[in-house]
Amino acid sequence: MKATNAIKRQQRKLFIGEIISFAIIFTVLGFIIYALFQNAIYSNVDRSIEIQKEQILTNTIPDLPDPTGTSNQSSFNSSNNPPQNRTQNPGAGSPFQTETLIFAKDGTISNQDTIGQRNYQLLQKIKLDKSKKNKLVDLTVSTGNNLTSSFRTELIYVPTSNENAEYAGKYVIILANVDSEIMAIHSFQIVFLITLAIFAVLAVIVSYYLSRRSMQPIIKAWNRQQEFSADAAHELRTPLTVIQNNLEYLLTKPNAKIIDETESISNGLDETRRLKKLTESLLMLSRSDSNVLQLNVEETDVKTLFNNLITPYVEIASSQDKSLRIENNFNRSAQLDGGLIKQLSVILLDNALKYTPAGGTIVVTVAQVGTDLNLTVTDTGIGITDKDKENIFERFYRADNSRTQKTGGNGLGLSIAKWITEQHQGTITVTDNHPTGAKFIVKIPVK
Ligand code: ADP
Repeated sequence: MKATNAIKRQQRKLFIGEIISFAIIFTVLGFIIYALFQNAIYSNVDRSIEIQKEQILTNTIPDLPDPTGTSNQSSFNSSNNPPQNRTQNPGAGSPFQTETLIFAKDGTISNQDTIGQRNYQLLQKIKLDKSKKNKLVDLTVSTGNNLTSSFRTELIYVPTSNENAEYAGKYVIILANVDSEIMAIHSFQIVFLITLAIFAVLAVIVSYYLSRRSMQPIIKAWNRQQEFSADAAHELRTPLTVIQNNLEYLLTKPNAKIIDETESISNGLDETRRLKKLTESLLMLSRSDSNVLQLNVEETDVKTLFNNLITPYVEIASSQDKSLRIENNFNRSAQLDGGLIKQLSVILLDNALKYTPAGGTIVVTVAQVGTDLNLTVTDTGIGITDKDKENIFERFYRADNSRTQKTGGNGLGLSIAKWITEQHQGTITVTDNHPTGAKFIVKIPVK
């Protein structure tokens, strides 16, 4: 299949369009997943801060479990209870989970001895900022010696009425260590970026494949159009050349009488008729392609339609020493486009006459078979080979033996016949007539 520059350009546009669509989809999806993941991770931390706050304000802080394991406060570490207040010293080497910093009136940390020396080193960097009261704030603090931790914090003010003298009337920062959460988010980011990269490569491959695939019908239609134009130009050139030659010849005989030059004039006229027929066929096909031709379906008296159209052909046949008869057994009217059905029948009759030598017989039958109108045109002519049977409904296709017979055809009749049949939801087929000739069968469903 030959792809022109225009087609390649179109394919590139499709490819870029698809890549952009994939990029937008993946980016939106990525943001949603990332936001959901982050939200899920921080929601537990936020909940634990909220519970701690509640416990401080209502003075319901449970004791730390007994290090010997004999404490009966088993609910303290249960999954429903987040890490609790460790103001009793969480242990110098232990990671931060939740912690509280109690600020004295002068802004210094008053529970320094309960949070351990190592933790204090870090947490003393946190300064009291009353404007952040009751807001969740993310903080990262570090000491000079590589000790860095990140926290989610909330500053609260404990009313003086609080029964716990340690908190009463003081500002307290509740901190939840989020180092492991940040690490999880970082790992997630790496996995996510790798996944995105794999998807990006897949998106390029899929887009390329899709853009190629969606171009196939366009390339096919394009090539068909090209072929059609080339064939049409070729068919138009022949009669035009004959007319031109005849006219040029007549010009060389300015004093001749018309009676002496009838051959050239009738040759020119024949070709003009051929040209007219050809342009009408081309017009019909191009209209059918662009769907501008609308069926004009109406109640049609089928018997009369066929009897009328056949009459002139009986005479033409007998003038050519051929016999033509009709067996018209369709006795009711049907919903059809009478004009197009007539055109279809004329194409088949014309062909039967063209390809049947003198002495031959053509039989037209019209009958109702089930809910179908069956039209058959049988002749005893030259017949059609099996290979040609596959192609004769293609535009401009003519069997070799028809070309050599100089029948004046152009290979468009049967493609028009096929289009008319299909517009009526029918089928058209061709078989051999025995012992010689062809048989065209048209079946059109009628209600
Ligand atoms: P054309 O104008 O050449 O007749 P058609 O599309 O009507 O174009 O037919 C296509 C070809 O099918 C013809 O060129 C001829 O080779 C073949 N054909 C059609 N009808 C007959 C027939 N009744 N007998 C033999 N060949 C036929």
